[in-house]
Amino acid sequence: MARKRFVYLCTNGLLMASRLQDFRPSPYFSWTVHLDGLRERHDASVGREGVFDTAVEAIRRAKAAHFRVTTNSTFYSNDSPEAVRELLDFLNDGLNVDAMMFSPGYQYESAPDQEHFLHREQTRKLFREVFSDGRRDRWRLNHSPLFLDFLEGKVDYRCSPWGVPSYSLLGWQRPCYLQADGYCATYRELVELTDWSRYGPGNDDPRCDDCMAHCGYEPSAVLATTRSLRQALRAVRSG
Ligand code: SF4
Repeated sequence: MARKRFVYLCTNGLLMASRLQDFRPSPYFSWTVHLDGLRERHDASVGREGVFDTAVEAIRRAKAAHFRVTTNSTFYSNDSPEAVRELLDFLNDGLNVDAMMFSPGYQYESAPDQEHFLHREQTRKLFREVFSDGRRDRWRLNHSPLFLDFLEGKVDYRCSPWGVPSYSLLGWQRPCYLQADGYCATYRELVELTDWSRYGPGNDDPRCDDCMAHCGYEPSAVLATTRSLRQALRAVRSG
């Protein structure tokens, strides 16, 4: 933060309220609380009762203490457009969070529930319906307009996973944070020694076929935005 970098601290919210005093509000610091749905849906999603209420209480306390609070939600095939709208309305208007992010669930091979991942066409249909009554422009979404167009199926992009790389104690993860095909010591090594042509829908790797996650496609949307004056103006207006 001293270097003016934006830090998003991702949390399930369980310990957040008890640790607020260890942090200071700053425009460079955001809590990012994971919430997949309203009470019943979220508690079922994380497999534990009471998590939703604890996280919501933590958000209220953080907002009251003038912290910037954002949320991150993952949606699956058993989430209806109405349920997604209800959650986003609650976060936007009820909790007044500063910005919301979401992603269609990515199909992890080791995930216990393999039934409810969204296939590409299901993702497009879900977001078309979620956005069909114009709420997209009212919600404070932390996504570029072109990424939202992509989720709705209005545009298509190639995946650009090098644009939102994942770095951890293990190194730079290849090719993206959803898949771990090895780690590199430097970002240059990641970019130059990864065979990017293998990844993305329709290429060699079937794990990519249904992926529409922001780590791969938000950078593609941003690149498309910067190439078009009209889209750049649209992004500024929605920001
Ligand atoms: S399509 Fe998805 S899983 Fe495949 S490399 Fe891109 S971001 Fe990763």
